[in-house]
Amino acid sequence: MKDQDYFQQIAALTGLQYYPTQNPWGGKSGSVIGARDGYVTAIGFDPTRNARKITILVRFKKVSDPALLKASLPQSPALPEKKPGKLAATGEDFVRWEIAYSFTKPKAEDVANFSGALRDALKTLAPPFDGRCEVCISTSTPSLTMMGNLPGYICSNCQEKARQDLDRAAMNYEAIEPNYPNGLVLGLLAAFLGGIAWGVIAYGINRIFLYGAILIGYLISWAVIKGTRKVTLFGQILIPILTVASVLFGDAIFYTLAVMKHRQIPFSMQLFKAILANLWPIEKEGNGILTLVFALVGAGFALYNARKPKFKTSFQPLDAPGRPIA
Ligand SMILES: [Zn+2]
Repeated sequence: MKDQDYFQQIAALTGLQYYPTQNPWGGKSGSVIGARDGYVTAIGFDPTRNARKITILVRFKKVSDPALLKASLPQSPALPEKKPGKLAATGEDFVRWEIAYSFTKPKAEDVANFSGALRDALKTLAPPFDGRCEVCISTSTPSLTMMGNLPGYICSNCQEKARQDLDRAAMNYEAIEPNYPNGLVLGLLAAFLGGIAWGVIAYGINRIFLYGAILIGYLISWAVIKGTRKVTLFGQILIPILTVASVLFGDAIFYTLAVMKHRQIPFSMQLFKAILANLWPIEKEGNGILTLVFALVGAGFALYNARKPKFKTSFQPLDAPGRPIA
């Protein structure tokens, strides 16, 4: 069955709406969203966690003890004895239930029935929304809005206020005066320590790890941003350079340790300098290319990690729902 038809069926069975272009988890085939009895429900594929699964999200007014909810919900008599899937996450105003499958999707009826049972179970455990904005808890707000990725109730005043708060946060961030010398010093220190760790560990276990390069990249990007106090172009250029340099420096330490052992000689700066001077020919003999690839991947992760924080929220009305099955 095509995904669209599948979700149309679930929508018809649950009395909710199918939205072909909106999905809280970013799946391509849209999702079923709506509220019944004050409980907001979203049902869709969740492609973010590398497994095939149907996710059912139910939102409600904040509870004071999410841990209690987490413990009580699976025991609820409203749920069937044999439950499909498992409770994946509980928060103060939501639960997420996941039904994993391998080849065929779970039956639309089963998903619809279970989402109903979940709502019934929550009726005794968490309060429903009552048609008012969930932020200011006063303005009448009858229709759902996608707040970022989550469907919920937020009035236009609170949306405006959230935008203004973020604008202010963005302006404050822009106003931070970057401290470049600090960023450079902390970055160099992180690269130095990362390189020593890379060399010593590589020597100890006689192999290198991609994760090692990624960790070094993270360490350096954290240190540079900590030093400059914000994400800057300077940092974005410095971070990959330091990551590659750190891994190469680590390799030089590794080869120095290897020569010391092989020839039974103590450490000397002269030896280390000789290795550094000949690092490229040595790398070409060994697994230097692999090292460089690892270092570049590590730098890529570091750069991704060093993005500017986003100061945008999106509030989106729910699209026109998909047509119901004729
Ligand atoms: Zn409000």
